[in-house]
Amino acid sequence: MYFPTTCPNCQQENRAEFADSGIHDLRCSRCGARYCVFLRKQKFEVLFDLGTRALLDGYAREAVASFSAALERFLEFYVRAFALERSADAAQDFEDAAQTFEATWRHVVSQSERQVGMLALAYVLREGREPDFLTAKALGTDFRNKVVHRGYLPRQEEVEAYAAQVFTLIDRLLTELGEAATHAELLQERDFARHMDTLPDSVTVLFEEHPGMFRARRFGQSASPRAPADLPQLKTTATKPSKVLENVQNYQKAMFQQALEERGELLNKFKGR
Ligand SMILES: [Zn+2]
Repeated sequence: MYFPTTCPNCQQENRAEFADSGIHDLRCSRCGARYCVFLRKQKFEVLFDLGTRALLDGYAREAVASFSAALERFLEFYVRAFALERSADAAQDFEDAAQTFEATWRHVVSQSERQVGMLALAYVLREGREPDFLTAKALGTDFRNKVVHRGYLPRQEEVEAYAAQVFTLIDRLLTELGEAATHAELLQERDFARHMDTLPDSVTVLFEEHPGMFRARRFGQSASPRAPADLPQLKTTATKPSKVLENVQNYQKAMFQQALEERGELLNKFKGR
């Protein structure tokens, strides 16, 4: 996927392809100037935006894979943030802690069930309560598998509901993480700094903060839609399940809708290709 960048020398717009690292070494197609764009955005944010874009463009089925990947990468982000937060509290060296974590993550990197196990422990240690969202239903696992593995062609509104569900879960956990998220974000800053050290002085460095949906909500001004009174932290086990479930779905839709609106103009710019 591509995004527009502006040459710092002649203002020409050059397209850049999203790099996994968030680091984009570019050369202007008009004046030949070299510049480097660092994209301050987490993997789960990029994936969620890809899903949103696919959904808005009418590719409902393709969107599911991106939303599902966004959720998986967010769980990883949560575990990493938790581990680094703990290390910081114990006054451990950041670099040592980061290396230990990456080495540990290699044991679980190719199996998502193991990653969910890591998340479960991280959550209970951090929040002191059961991770109630780790059920197949709350994670939308059945729907996702039906689409991704069994070729089911979902309707647009089914995918919108799934997106809203994933969005609400990530948004809730990000809110609970609070400042701890910055520990994981520091890793990206470190990688950016390392790359910057390798660039000659003639290369202009640009930092971009793309308005991902979560970023817009975290740093935006508007308040969250009010949760319905009988919504106990999005649990669906209250006395009147159907009523509560309906409220949950309406709440999730409102959150997702609001996040879409908050991006407004910025999303259109982001869509430039
Ligand atoms: Zn130029």
